Parts: sequence; C-alpha cells; structure tokens
Amino acid sequence: MELTRLTARELGGQLIRGEVSAQEAVQAYLDRIAVVEARVQAFLQRDPEGASSQAVAVDERRAAGEDMGPLAGVPMALKDNLCTRHLPTTCASRILEGFRPPYDATVTARLRAAGTVLLGKTNLDEFAMGSSSENSGFFPTRNPWDLERVPGGSSAGSAAAVAAREVAFALGSDTGGSVRQPAAFCGVVGMKPTYGRVSRYGLVAFASSLDQVGTLTRDVADCALVLAAICGVDPLDATSAREAVPDFPALLEGGVRGLTLGVPREYLGQGVEPGVRENVRRAIAALEDLGARAEECSLPHTEYALSTYYLIAPAEASSNLARYDGIRYGRPAAHDDLLSLYGNTRREGFGPEVRRRIMLGTYALSAGYYDAYYLKALRVRTLIRQDFLRAFERYDLLVTPTSPTVAFPLGERTRDPLQMYLADVCTVPVSLAGLPAVSLPAGLSGGLPVGLQIIGRPFDEATVLRAAYALEQGAFWTRTPPPEEVGA
Ligand code: GLN
Repeated sequence: MELTRLTARELGGQLIRGEVSAQEAVQAYLDRIAVVEARVQAFLQRDPEGASSQAVAVDERRAAGEDMGPLAGVPMALKDNLCTRHLPTTCASRILEGFRPPYDATVTARLRAAGTVLLGKTNLDEFAMGSSSENSGFFPTRNPWDLERVPGGSSAGSAAAVAAREVAFALGSDTGGSVRQPAAFCGVVGMKPTYGRVSRYGLVAFASSLDQVGTLTRDVADCALVLAAICGVDPLDATSAREAVPDFPALLEGGVRGLTLGVPREYLGQGVEPGVRENVRRAIAALEDLGARAEECSLPHTEYALSTYYLIAPAEASSNLARYDGIRYGRPAAHDDLLSLYGNTRREGFGPEVRRRIMLGTYALSAGYYDAYYLKALRVRTLIRQDFLRAFERYDLLVTPTSPTVAFPLGERTRDPLQMYLADVCTVPVSLAGLPAVSLPAGLSGGLPVGLQIIGRPFDEATVLRAAYALEQGAFWTRTPPPEEVGA
C-alpha cells in the first residue's frame, strides 16, 4: 500500500516493526507533495532537508535499539503561528516575513521529542483571523475536494495538507473554530481540547482567553494519539492545566451505550444548509442505533455568541498585536522618525482584516466604551458558559453541526465580513465556554464533506473521542473517501 494512505497510527506501527524506515516515509510524503502542492498550496514553508535529517536520526536511534514510541518517524506539519526554532514563523503576515524564532513552541518541542518529522509550516489566515485562508498575507490555500472552494480557516493549510495526504497529521490553533471548521470543510478530524489542556507557549497569541492548540488527523485514533503527545501541564505556560492527562488512545473503545446526548435546537435552525442538517440528523440517529440516547435541548444564549466573540477576540487581539512595531519583530518599513516607523510598519505589515480587528478591539477597550462593550461581552460570555454547564448536568455530550454550510467558493464572502464570521457560528460558543470539541466527518453533501461537532464537559476529551470513534467505526457512511480533485 502507498505509504501516504496509511494513518499516522498505521504508519507508526510499520515503523516500529521495521517494515518501513523513517527515510522512506519522508520520501513518500515529499513525492506526494511534489505532485499536489502546486494545486493545493497548503504550505508557506517546506523543509525537505531538515525533514530528511530528522528521519535519518530516527532510523539511527531505532537501529541502536532505542524505544521511540508510536509517532517516531511520522511526517507532519505545523501551522505557521507555532514557533519553530530557526525556521520561519510568519503567521501568514507580511509584518513577520523573515522572522525566525530562537525557540520552539512547547508543542513543537513535544512532537520533536516524540520523534515526529516536521515537513513544513502551513498557511493560515493572517494571525489566525479568518475562516477561509483568504486573509493570508501571501496566498489562499485551496480545498482538496474542489480547488475552487475554500478549505476553511484559519488552520487552512494544516487541514488541506492532511486531506490531500501531504502529511500524516498536523497541528493547528483554534480560537473560535479554526481547527474544527477547516476540518469539517476538508473532511478530516479536528480536535480543540479544553482551554488549558495544551500549552500555548510559543503559539503566537491572538485572543489569549480563547486560544488553544488543536490537532488535524485522518481519523479519530490518530487524534487520540497526537493529543496524548501534546497535552499536559507546562511550567512555561501559567494557563496550562494541572489536570491529569488520561491515556486517550486506550480509552477509545467502549462505545456509546448509556451515554445521553443533547441536541441543542439553536444549532439546527435557520441558516443551516439542508444537506448539513440531514447528515447531522443521520449521524445522531446512527449514534442512537449504537446505543446512545439523544434528546433535543436548548442553549438559550447561543444567539449572542457571535457578537460576544467579536468584542472579546478583537479586544484581546488589539492588545496582543501591539508588540509588532518593526523594532522587536519583523521587517521595519521606510520611515523618517520613530512615529512614522511605527505607523508605516503597521500600516504596510498588517492586512485589512487584522487592521479592522485592531481598530474594533481598541474601540471596545477605550475609556467610555469599556463598560458598554467589553465588560458587557464578558458578562454574556458567563451566561453562555452557564448554558453549557447546565446542559452537562443532564447530558454527557452535545452534538451539533460544525459549520452551517459545506465549503463555499473562493471569493464568495471576502467582501462581507459578517458572512465570513457566520462560518463559525457553531464553534464560537464552545470556545467562549472553554470546552473540548471534535469535528469529525459525517458524510458528504453535494460531494463535499459535512462536519459533526461533538462537545464535552471540561477536560472530558476522552468521552468526546469515545463517541467519535464509535460513530467512525460503527457508521461507515460517515467516513469521507479520499478527495478526487487532487488525484486520489
Ligand atoms: N474564524 C474565527 C475568527 O476569524 C476564528 C478564528 C480562530 O479560531 N483562530 O476569529
């Protein structure tokens, strides 16, 4: 079998058994990238030499008898807002063009320690602000299912690279849906863990009370495996949680018998495409056939989530992005004095969406408006979180669509930010509440993947994964075949 068709777990198994070498695995992926990357454009930066030498090192250590673990030698990619020592980290922004961090993000370091091989850095919407990759300061990534459609965003390149078999798995970041929504659009599995579950040290900050690192994988077992490698407390991130990390891969079996699922009605109403609604209902029926009990419920503050998010996230972004001044990071613009250095660098370096958010956020935080906008948004956020926690007194999991539509055509929403923001209407509330959620394939609508979102109690990724695994294994129609567009 072609090596790039194996899941990370399968490839890892072959590597352990010595049936294939890390160098062969890397070569197979580099060959695949050479065939499809010109069409998909998932990468901002590739590092074939670095990857090859990492593969040599893995093979040597294995040959010397070292027990390297289940992911050693498996090729992967990182979203370009995760710091990689001595490799460019641009956040798809002109302002960081050429920037090479002197250190690794904690997740980068953990994946290196696990022996995975970094093939490159993937495209995103600038500073992770967007839902289509069209806000990238460089170029848009294309959906491997239909090259005229968006892959979702902001972890666009990571999702597209996994779907197009350019890597075995990838990491992204999710602030309001940026792992789950592109996973849904590209037909792969995307997990946003509980806020605090994964260290953000070395993840370039967008909205610090929401940002979380997440995984993009071919299937649920890979999700558990990669999650296990990156979770856990980190002394370098004070917000990382001390909670014990369960053995996710060992907890996948067990099924859904006895679980109670809530189906919030606010997520299946107006604005949800019929094809998405049908597939989600069918997936819920499949979970019932597998032994779960499902019941309609309500999260009454859902309608306020998007406006709440678009006050809180820009407010935090305006503060986080104040550090880009052309002096400490990135490329300074032409200038006459200090003021024009700041002004010109930021005007030329940031794209329109980032500038819009900085202005909105600065406004919401300014004297006189802080109470009316920012503080009020924080209060509504508490109500949204309480909706969820109340629902979890009754239900083990909540099930919704990941996005109200399938992947939309490139260019369709670029002139209307509100339309773009609506792509995250199902994922943003979960982020505001800090909860874990996975998006997994739930069949096709009009030939394009539909995503099902399964939401869990705080730090209960294990139950989320168990239900996702049961559905994936028990309802074969949910699995997406390989996309034809890039050459299956
Ligand atoms: N699309 C949302 C935004 O533009 C979410 C982004 C994210 O999760 N990073 O803010």
